[in-house]
Amino acid sequence: MVALLGTGVVPAETPILRADDLGALRGDGIFETMHVREGVPWLLAEHLDRMGRSAERLALPLPPRADLLELVGQACAAWPADREGALRLVCTRGPEDGGPVTVYATVAAVAEATRRARAAGVAVRTATLGVPADVRHSAPWLLGGTKTLSYAVNMASQRWAQSVGADDVLWLSVEGYALEAPTSTLVWRDGGALCTVPAEPTGILIGTTGHWLLDHADELGLASRERMVTPDELTAVDGVWLLSSVRGVAAVRTLDGAATRTHEKETARLRDLLGYPVISR
Ligand code: PLP
Repeated sequence: MVALLGTGVVPAETPILRADDLGALRGDGIFETMHVREGVPWLLAEHLDRMGRSAERLALPLPPRADLLELVGQACAAWPADREGALRLVCTRGPEDGGPVTVYATVAAVAEATRRARAAGVAVRTATLGVPADVRHSAPWLLGGTKTLSYAVNMASQRWAQSVGADDVLWLSVEGYALEAPTSTLVWRDGGALCTVPAEPTGILIGTTGHWLLDHADELGLASRERMVTPDELTAVDGVWLLSSVRGVAAVRTLDGAATRTHEKETARLRDLLGYPVISR
């Protein structure tokens, strides 16, 4: 399902980008991915807020919010309300010789592998991101905290994980601190608190799903904290998860081959609070 700003839903095979679109040539653009449930994108306002911040950092003229809301509405109206979906909202810088930004939305079914990981958890390998934990804070050109289209490194990280028999990667800073995964946020439970890595000083992406969970931790009888953590610590805490909009909660079963203490019941509690189905169409 494809919808184009100003046009609405178009046949999925309709050409959308010019060959010289900077989104394709340079990965110069931004995007958001949202979970569509009962026909509406969950946490839409939070995603649009983050897209606005990403646009500011790239000096990208994002269309007015009302236009984006209309586009998202058109895309979701064409998607069966009883089927969960993954909505992508994309804004590229447009043609190389100038011209308007290219803005479109797609809705697709949630991949089988994604739903499997939601139900069964993931085996995770750590891998260096090659940067000190605090460098992106003072180097805005590294685009810390920005959801750009330049995800080739993220995808390569996940392919590497698969090549060594794992499902996903946990990126480490050069000092050995855990940062985030290529498409998800690290969350762990340490005693009575749900914890995550602080985004502002590290330049990781502020995950909408992880932040919503920590904001609602009290509904699970838990506090919430932000702090730095090492992989060794993670194998000793009371549960480790990767959170993201479409996969939802994925239990980290193993980290570099060592079993974590993540219990199925605790994972189910988080998943239920966040409203993700385990088995769905
Ligand atoms: N971190 C990175 C690098 C991501 O790309 C994503 C999502 O794609 C996340 C974290 C999780 O963010 P969200 O919960 O908003 O999907």
